[in-house]
Amino acid sequence: MNVLVINCGSSSLKFQLINSDTEAVLAKGLCERIGIDGSLTYQPAGGEKVKSAKAMPTHTEAIQFVIDALTDAQTGVVKSLDEIGAVGHRVVHGGEKFASSVVITEEVKAAIEECNDLAPLHNPANLIGIDACEKLMPGTPQVAVFDTAFHQTMPEKAYMYGLPYRYYDEYKVRRYGFHGTSHSFVSKRAAEFLGVSYDATKTIVCHLGNGASVCAVLNGKSVDTSMGLTPLEGLVMGTRSGDIDPAIMEFIAKKEGLDIDGLMKVLNKESGVYGLSDGVSSDFRDLSAAAEAGQKPAQIALQVFAYKVAKYVGSYAAAMNGVDNIVFTAGIGENDGAIRKEVCSYLGFLGIEIDDTANAKRGEEVVISTPDSKVKVLVIPTNEELAIARETVALL
Ligand code: AMP
Repeated sequence: MNVLVINCGSSSLKFQLINSDTEAVLAKGLCERIGIDGSLTYQPAGGEKVKSAKAMPTHTEAIQFVIDALTDAQTGVVKSLDEIGAVGHRVVHGGEKFASSVVITEEVKAAIEECNDLAPLHNPANLIGIDACEKLMPGTPQVAVFDTAFHQTMPEKAYMYGLPYRYYDEYKVRRYGFHGTSHSFVSKRAAEFLGVSYDATKTIVCHLGNGASVCAVLNGKSVDTSMGLTPLEGLVMGTRSGDIDPAIMEFIAKKEGLDIDGLMKVLNKESGVYGLSDGVSSDFRDLSAAAEAGQKPAQIALQVFAYKVAKYVGSYAAAMNGVDNIVFTAGIGENDGAIRKEVCSYLGFLGIEIDDTANAKRGEEVVISTPDSKVKVLVIPTNEELAIARETVALL
Protein backbone atom coordinates (compact mmCIF):
# COMPACT_ATOMS: atom_id res chain seq x y z
CA MET A 1 0.00 0.00 0.00
CA ASN A 2 1.17 3.57 -0.68
CA VAL A 3 0.91 5.81 2.36
CA LEU A 4 0.98 9.59 2.15
CA VAL A 5 2.71 10.91 5.26
CA ILE A 6 1.83 14.49 6.14
CA ASN A 7 3.51 16.77 8.67
CA CYS A 8 1.58 20.03 8.81
CA GLY A 9 2.93 23.20 10.40
CA SER A 10 1.11 26.52 10.68
CA SER A 11 2.47 27.76 7.34
CA SER A 12 4.25 24.71 5.98
CA LEU A 13 3.52 21.10 5.05
CA LYS A 14 6.07 18.32 4.59
CA PHE A 15 5.06 15.15 2.80
CA GLN A 16 6.39 11.78 1.69
CA LEU A 17 4.67 9.07 -0.32
CA ILE A 18 5.95 5.73 0.97
CA ASN A 19 5.34 2.27 -0.46
CA SER A 20 4.74 0.36 2.74
CA ASP A 21 5.62 -3.03 1.18
CA THR A 22 9.11 -2.02 0.01
CA GLU A 23 9.38 0.94 2.43
CA ALA A 24 10.72 2.97 -0.51
CA VAL A 25 10.06 6.71 -0.64
CA LEU A 26 8.29 7.28 -3.98
CA ALA A 27 8.29 11.07 -3.73
CA LYS A 28 8.72 13.77 -1.13
CA GLY A 29 8.48 17.49 -0.79
CA LEU A 30 7.46 20.57 1.07
CA CYS A 31 4.88 23.35 0.80
CA GLU A 32 6.05 26.62 2.34
CA ARG A 33 4.59 30.03 3.10
CA ILE A 34 1.00 28.73 3.09
CA GLY A 35 -1.34 31.68 3.65
CA ILE A 36 1.37 34.14 2.57
CA ASP A 37 2.27 33.45 -1.08
CA GLY A 38 3.22 29.79 -1.35
CA SER A 39 5.74 27.44 -2.96
CA LEU A 40 5.94 23.72 -3.60
CA THR A 41 9.18 21.74 -3.57
CA TYR A 42 8.68 18.31 -5.11
CA GLN A 43 11.08 15.46 -5.74
CA PRO A 44 10.15 12.06 -7.17
CA ALA A 45 12.51 9.18 -6.27
CA GLY A 46 15.57 9.36 -8.51
CA GLY A 47 14.31 12.60 -10.04
CA GLU A 48 15.19 16.22 -9.80
CA LYS A 49 14.06 18.44 -6.92
CA VAL A 50 11.92 21.25 -8.35
CA LYS A 51 10.67 24.31 -6.47
CA SER A 52 7.84 26.35 -7.93
CA ALA A 53 5.75 29.28 -6.76
CA LYS A 54 2.08 28.34 -6.19
CA ALA A 55 -0.68 30.45 -4.69
CA MET A 56 -1.65 28.69 -1.45
CA PRO A 57 -4.14 30.73 0.56
CA THR A 58 -4.87 27.69 2.77
CA HIS A 59 -3.64 24.14 3.47
CA THR A 60 -6.39 22.81 1.17
CA GLU A 61 -4.71 24.36 -1.89
CA ALA A 62 -1.34 23.12 -0.63
CA ILE A 63 -2.58 19.53 -0.41
CA GLN A 64 -4.25 19.86 -3.80
CA PHE A 65 -0.86 20.85 -5.28
CA VAL A 66 0.76 17.87 -3.57
CA ILE A 67 -1.88 15.55 -5.07
CA ASP A 68 -1.45 17.16 -8.50
CA ALA A 69 2.32 16.68 -8.31
CA LEU A 70 2.05 13.04 -7.19
CA THR A 71 -0.39 12.23 -10.03
CA ASP A 72 1.25 14.41 -12.71
CA ALA A 73 1.61 12.63 -16.08
CA GLN A 74 5.32 13.52 -16.37
CA THR A 75 6.79 13.75 -12.89
CA GLY A 76 4.11 11.99 -10.85
CA VAL A 77 4.63 8.60 -9.20
CA VAL A 78 1.05 7.28 -9.16
CA LYS A 79 -1.62 7.26 -11.87
CA SER A 80 -4.47 8.34 -9.65
CA LEU A 81 -5.47 8.90 -6.05
CA ASP A 82 -6.76 5.31 -5.98
CA GLU A 83 -3.13 4.25 -5.62
CA ILE A 84 -2.84 6.06 -2.27
CA GLY A 85 -4.25 3.68 0.31
CA ALA A 86 -3.99 5.81 3.44
CA VAL A 87 -2.77 9.08 4.91
CA GLY A 88 -0.65 9.17 8.07
CA HIS A 89 -0.59 12.50 9.90
CA ARG A 90 2.01 13.58 12.41
CA VAL A 91 0.08 15.18 15.26
CA VAL A 92 2.16 16.96 17.86
CA HIS A 93 0.09 16.78 21.04
CA GLY A 94 -2.21 13.96 22.07
CA GLY A 95 -2.32 15.02 25.74
CA GLU A 96 -3.39 12.17 28.03
CA LYS A 97 -6.06 11.09 25.56
CA PHE A 98 -3.81 9.22 23.13
CA ALA A 99 -1.31 6.58 24.21
CA SER A 100 -1.04 5.20 20.67
CA SER A 101 -1.85 6.05 17.07
CA VAL A 102 -5.51 6.06 16.00
CA VAL A 103 -7.65 5.95 12.89
CA ILE A 104 -9.13 9.44 12.54
CA THR A 105 -12.86 9.83 13.17
CA GLU A 106 -14.99 12.83 14.12
CA GLU A 107 -14.50 11.91 17.82
CA VAL A 108 -10.72 11.72 17.35
CA LYS A 109 -10.68 15.14 15.71
CA ALA A 110 -12.67 16.59 18.61
CA ALA A 111 -10.22 15.02 21.08
CA ILE A 112 -7.23 16.44 19.18
CA GLU A 113 -8.92 19.83 19.25
CA GLU A 114 -9.27 19.54 23.03
CA CYS A 115 -5.45 19.32 23.16
CA ASN A 116 -5.06 22.60 21.21
CA ASP A 117 -4.36 24.51 24.42
CA LEU A 118 -1.31 22.34 25.03
CA ALA A 119 0.19 22.97 21.57
CA PRO A 120 -1.43 26.13 20.24
CA LEU A 121 0.94 26.49 17.29
CA HIS A 122 0.94 22.87 16.17
CA ASN A 123 -2.32 21.03 16.85
CA PRO A 124 -4.60 23.48 15.00
CA ALA A 125 -2.32 23.19 11.95
CA ASN A 126 -2.40 19.39 12.19
CA LEU A 127 -6.22 19.49 12.25
CA ILE A 128 -6.33 21.78 9.22
CA GLY A 129 -4.19 19.24 7.34
CA ILE A 130 -6.52 16.41 8.37
CA ASP A 131 -9.61 18.38 7.24
CA ALA A 132 -7.99 19.26 3.91
CA CYS A 133 -7.13 15.59 3.23
CA GLU A 134 -10.65 14.50 4.16
CA LYS A 135 -12.03 17.01 1.68
CA LEU A 136 -9.69 16.14 -1.18
CA MET A 137 -9.36 12.39 -0.58
CA PRO A 138 -12.79 11.34 0.68
CA GLY A 139 -12.93 7.70 1.67
CA THR A 140 -9.16 7.34 2.10
CA PRO A 141 -8.47 6.24 5.69
CA GLN A 142 -6.44 8.65 7.79
CA VAL A 143 -4.37 7.92 10.85
CA ALA A 144 -3.00 10.26 13.53
CA VAL A 145 0.44 9.45 14.95
CA PHE A 146 1.24 11.53 18.03
CA ASP A 147 4.62 12.90 19.14
CA THR A 148 3.54 12.45 22.75
CA ALA A 149 1.97 8.96 22.62
CA PHE A 150 5.13 6.88 23.22
CA HIS A 151 5.74 8.74 26.50
CA GLN A 152 2.31 7.97 27.98
CA THR A 153 3.91 5.00 29.77
CA MET A 154 5.89 7.35 32.04
CA PRO A 155 5.11 6.85 35.73
CA GLU A 156 3.60 9.68 37.79
CA LYS A 157 6.90 10.32 39.56
CA ALA A 158 8.43 11.18 36.17
CA TYR A 159 5.63 13.27 34.74
CA MET A 160 4.42 15.30 37.74
CA TYR A 161 5.94 18.74 38.39
CA GLY A 162 6.50 20.18 41.85
CA LEU A 163 3.54 22.52 41.43
CA PRO A 164 0.12 22.74 43.10
CA TYR A 165 -1.69 19.48 42.33
CA ARG A 166 -4.75 21.27 41.05
CA TYR A 167 -2.77 22.54 38.04
CA TYR A 168 -2.57 18.92 36.96
CA ASP A 169 -6.14 18.21 37.97
CA GLU A 170 -7.67 21.24 36.28
CA TYR A 171 -5.31 22.05 33.42
CA LYS A 172 -3.38 18.79 32.88
CA VAL A 173 -0.06 20.51 33.53
CA ARG A 174 2.46 17.63 33.49
CA ARG A 175 5.38 16.28 31.48
CA TYR A 176 4.24 14.88 28.13
CA GLY A 177 7.48 14.64 26.17
CA PHE A 178 7.91 14.86 22.39
CA HIS A 179 9.87 13.17 19.56
CA GLY A 180 8.05 10.00 20.69
CA THR A 181 7.87 8.57 17.17
CA SER A 182 11.63 8.94 16.82
CA HIS A 183 12.50 7.63 20.31
CA SER A 184 10.30 4.60 19.73
CA PHE A 185 11.63 3.89 16.21
CA VAL A 186 15.28 4.33 17.13
CA SER A 187 15.22 2.38 20.42
CA LYS A 188 13.43 -0.54 18.75
CA ARG A 189 15.79 -0.50 15.79
CA ALA A 190 18.83 -0.45 18.12
CA ALA A 191 17.61 -3.62 19.84
CA GLU A 192 17.00 -5.31 16.46
CA PHE A 193 20.41 -4.21 15.20
CA LEU A 194 22.12 -5.61 18.29
CA GLY A 195 20.03 -8.79 18.26
CA VAL A 196 18.76 -8.26 21.81
CA SER A 197 15.23 -8.41 23.17
CA TYR A 198 13.57 -4.97 23.12
CA ASP A 199 11.42 -6.03 26.07
CA ALA A 200 14.43 -6.71 28.28
CA THR A 201 16.78 -3.82 27.46
CA LYS A 202 17.61 -0.47 29.04
CA THR A 203 18.13 2.14 26.33
CA ILE A 204 18.80 5.86 26.45
CA VAL A 205 18.05 7.67 23.18
CA CYS A 206 19.66 11.06 22.51
CA HIS A 207 17.60 12.68 19.73
CA LEU A 208 19.87 15.61 18.98
CA GLY A 209 18.49 17.81 16.22
CA ASN A 210 17.48 21.45 16.10
CA GLY A 211 14.97 20.37 18.73
CA ALA A 212 16.61 17.87 21.06
CA SER A 213 15.49 15.45 23.76
CA VAL A 214 16.71 12.43 25.69
CA CYS A 215 14.50 9.48 26.54
CA ALA A 216 14.87 6.58 28.96
CA VAL A 217 13.37 3.43 27.42
CA LEU A 218 13.03 0.58 29.92
CA ASN A 219 12.01 -2.77 28.40
CA GLY A 220 10.47 -1.07 25.36
CA LYS A 221 8.59 1.62 27.31
CA SER A 222 9.39 5.30 27.78
CA VAL A 223 9.88 5.91 31.51
CA ASP A 224 11.26 9.45 31.37
CA THR A 225 12.10 12.13 28.83
CA SER A 226 13.62 15.58 28.92
CA MET A 227 10.94 17.63 27.15
CA GLY A 228 7.95 18.55 29.27
CA LEU A 229 4.54 20.17 28.94
CA THR A 230 6.05 21.78 25.85
CA PRO A 231 9.19 21.13 23.76
CA LEU A 232 10.99 23.98 25.57
CA GLU A 233 12.18 21.94 28.56
CA GLY A 234 15.30 19.83 28.82
CA LEU A 235 18.44 20.07 26.72
CA VAL A 236 19.99 23.26 25.39
CA MET A 237 18.71 23.24 21.78
CA GLY A 238 19.27 25.16 18.53
CA THR A 239 17.45 28.27 19.73
CA ARG A 240 15.55 26.96 22.79
CA SER A 241 16.94 27.42 26.28
CA GLY A 242 15.93 24.07 27.75
CA ASP A 243 15.96 23.95 31.58
CA ILE A 244 16.59 27.23 33.37
CA ASP A 245 15.94 28.55 36.87
CA PRO A 246 12.31 29.73 36.48
CA ALA A 247 13.14 32.85 38.53
CA ILE A 248 15.37 34.04 35.65
CA MET A 249 12.17 34.93 33.84
CA GLU A 250 11.16 37.55 36.42
CA PHE A 251 14.73 38.82 36.70
CA ILE A 252 15.15 39.34 32.93
CA ALA A 253 11.60 40.65 32.48
CA LYS A 254 12.36 43.46 34.93
CA LYS A 255 15.81 44.21 33.52
CA GLU A 256 14.69 44.25 29.87
CA GLY A 257 11.09 45.44 30.28
CA LEU A 258 9.69 42.29 28.67
CA ASP A 259 6.16 40.91 28.93
CA ILE A 260 5.42 37.16 28.90
CA ASP A 261 5.26 36.99 25.09
CA GLY A 262 8.61 38.77 24.83
CA LEU A 263 10.14 36.38 27.36
CA MET A 264 8.80 33.30 25.59
CA LYS A 265 10.25 34.58 22.32
CA VAL A 266 13.67 34.89 23.96
CA LEU A 267 13.45 31.38 25.44
CA ASN A 268 12.18 29.76 22.23
CA LYS A 269 13.94 31.68 19.48
CA GLU A 270 16.93 33.56 20.84
CA SER A 271 18.46 31.14 23.33
CA GLY A 272 20.04 27.67 23.07
CA VAL A 273 23.39 27.33 21.30
CA TYR A 274 22.38 30.27 19.09
CA GLY A 275 22.06 32.58 22.08
CA LEU A 276 25.01 31.08 23.93
CA SER A 277 27.28 31.52 20.90
CA ASP A 278 26.33 35.20 20.87
CA GLY A 279 24.32 34.78 17.69
CA VAL A 280 26.91 32.86 15.63
CA SER A 281 24.40 30.16 14.57
CA SER A 282 22.02 27.46 15.72
CA ASP A 283 23.66 25.07 13.24
CA PHE A 284 26.40 22.84 14.64
CA ARG A 285 28.41 22.99 11.41
CA ASP A 286 28.75 26.78 11.79
CA LEU A 287 29.39 26.47 15.51
CA SER A 288 32.17 23.91 15.02
CA ALA A 289 33.84 26.13 12.39
CA ALA A 290 33.60 29.17 14.68
CA ALA A 291 34.91 27.16 17.65
CA GLU A 292 37.84 25.90 15.59
CA ALA A 293 38.57 29.49 14.56
CA GLY A 294 38.96 30.26 18.27
CA GLN A 295 35.63 32.01 18.94
CA LYS A 296 35.06 31.56 22.66
CA PRO A 297 31.22 31.87 22.75
CA ALA A 298 30.89 29.13 20.10
CA GLN A 299 33.28 26.91 22.09
CA ILE A 300 31.21 27.48 25.23
CA ALA A 301 27.96 26.74 23.38
CA LEU A 302 29.26 23.35 22.21
CA GLN A 303 30.60 22.49 25.67
CA VAL A 304 27.35 23.43 27.42
CA PHE A 305 25.33 21.41 24.89
CA ALA A 306 27.38 18.23 25.33
CA TYR A 307 27.63 18.57 29.13
CA LYS A 308 23.85 18.87 29.40
CA VAL A 309 23.28 15.77 27.25
CA ALA A 310 25.72 13.83 29.43
CA LYS A 311 23.94 14.97 32.62
CA TYR A 312 20.61 13.69 31.28
CA VAL A 313 22.17 10.39 30.25
CA GLY A 314 23.63 10.02 33.75
CA SER A 315 20.32 10.80 35.41
CA TYR A 316 18.43 8.33 33.19
CA ALA A 317 20.99 5.63 33.93
CA ALA A 318 20.10 6.26 37.59
CA ALA A 319 16.35 6.27 36.80
CA MET A 320 16.62 2.81 35.19
CA ASN A 321 19.24 1.49 37.62
CA GLY A 322 21.60 0.98 34.70
CA VAL A 323 21.77 1.24 30.94
CA ASP A 324 22.62 -1.28 28.21
CA ASN A 325 22.53 0.89 25.09
CA ILE A 326 22.93 4.58 24.37
CA VAL A 327 21.74 5.69 20.94
CA PHE A 328 22.48 8.93 19.11
CA THR A 329 20.12 10.11 16.39
CA ALA A 330 18.82 13.15 14.39
CA GLY A 331 20.85 15.86 12.63
CA ILE A 332 23.54 16.39 15.27
CA GLY A 333 23.39 12.89 16.79
CA GLU A 334 23.86 11.26 13.38
CA ASN A 335 26.46 13.60 11.95
CA ASP A 336 28.56 15.19 14.66
CA GLY A 337 31.12 12.68 15.91
CA ALA A 338 32.88 15.34 17.98
CA ILE A 339 29.74 16.01 20.01
CA ARG A 340 29.13 12.26 20.52
CA LYS A 341 32.71 11.85 21.70
CA GLU A 342 32.41 14.84 24.04
CA VAL A 343 29.15 13.52 25.54
CA CYS A 344 30.69 10.08 26.08
CA SER A 345 33.82 11.61 27.66
CA TYR A 346 31.66 12.20 30.78
CA LEU A 347 30.38 8.61 30.82
CA GLY A 348 33.55 6.68 31.59
CA PHE A 349 32.02 5.81 34.99
CA LEU A 350 29.51 3.64 33.12
CA GLY A 351 32.38 1.73 31.53
CA ILE A 352 31.91 3.40 28.16
CA GLU A 353 34.77 3.46 25.66
CA ILE A 354 34.42 4.95 22.18
CA ASP A 355 36.04 3.52 19.04
CA ASP A 356 37.25 6.58 17.11
CA THR A 357 37.25 4.82 13.73
CA ALA A 358 33.64 3.70 14.12
CA ASN A 359 32.67 7.13 15.49
CA ALA A 360 34.00 8.76 12.30
CA LYS A 361 31.39 6.95 10.15
CA ARG A 362 28.39 8.92 8.90
CA GLY A 363 24.87 8.19 7.73
CA GLU A 364 24.72 4.52 8.73
CA GLU A 365 23.70 2.32 11.64
CA VAL A 366 26.87 1.69 13.59
CA VAL A 367 28.12 0.71 17.04
CA ILE A 368 30.65 3.36 18.04
CA SER A 369 31.75 1.83 21.35
CA THR A 370 34.68 -0.60 21.58
CA PRO A 371 33.97 -4.34 22.01
CA ASP A 372 35.10 -4.00 25.67
CA SER A 373 32.74 -1.11 26.44
CA LYS A 374 30.27 -2.10 29.20
CA VAL A 375 27.50 -0.10 27.52
CA LYS A 376 26.92 -0.26 23.77
CA VAL A 377 26.86 3.17 22.14
CA LEU A 378 25.26 3.38 18.70
CA VAL A 379 24.26 5.75 15.94
CA ILE A 380 20.87 4.89 14.43
CA PRO A 381 19.49 7.30 11.81
CA THR A 382 15.92 8.24 12.68
CA ASN A 383 13.10 8.07 10.14
CA GLU A 384 9.91 9.54 11.53
CA GLU A 385 8.09 9.40 8.19
CA LEU A 386 8.72 5.68 7.81
CA ALA A 387 7.64 5.15 11.42
CA ILE A 388 4.38 7.02 10.68
CA ALA A 389 3.80 4.97 7.51
CA ARG A 390 4.37 1.72 9.46
CA GLU A 391 1.99 2.78 12.25
CA THR A 392 -0.62 3.74 9.66
CA VAL A 393 -0.48 0.39 7.92
CA ALA A 394 -0.40 -1.52 11.21
CA LEU A 395 -3.60 0.19 12.34
CA LEU A 396 -5.45 -0.37 9.10
P1 AMP B 1 17.27 17.93 12.60
O1 AMP B 1 16.43 18.86 13.43
O2 AMP B 1 17.29 16.54 13.12
O3 AMP B 1 16.98 18.02 11.13
O4 AMP B 1 18.79 18.44 12.78
C1 AMP B 1 19.22 19.66 12.22
C2 AMP B 1 20.53 20.07 12.84
O5 AMP B 1 21.51 19.03 12.68
C3 AMP B 1 21.17 21.28 12.19
O6 AMP B 1 20.68 22.48 12.72
C4 AMP B 1 22.63 21.09 12.53
O7 AMP B 1 22.91 21.69 13.77
C5 AMP B 1 22.80 19.59 12.67
N1 AMP B 1 23.56 19.00 11.56
C6 AMP B 1 23.10 18.64 10.34
N2 AMP B 1 24.11 18.14 9.58
C7 AMP B 1 25.23 18.20 10.33
C8 AMP B 1 26.60 17.86 10.13
N3 AMP B 1 27.01 17.33 8.98
N4 AMP B 1 27.47 18.08 11.15
C9 AMP B 1 27.03 18.60 12.32
N5 AMP B 1 25.76 18.95 12.57
C10 AMP B 1 24.87 18.75 11.60
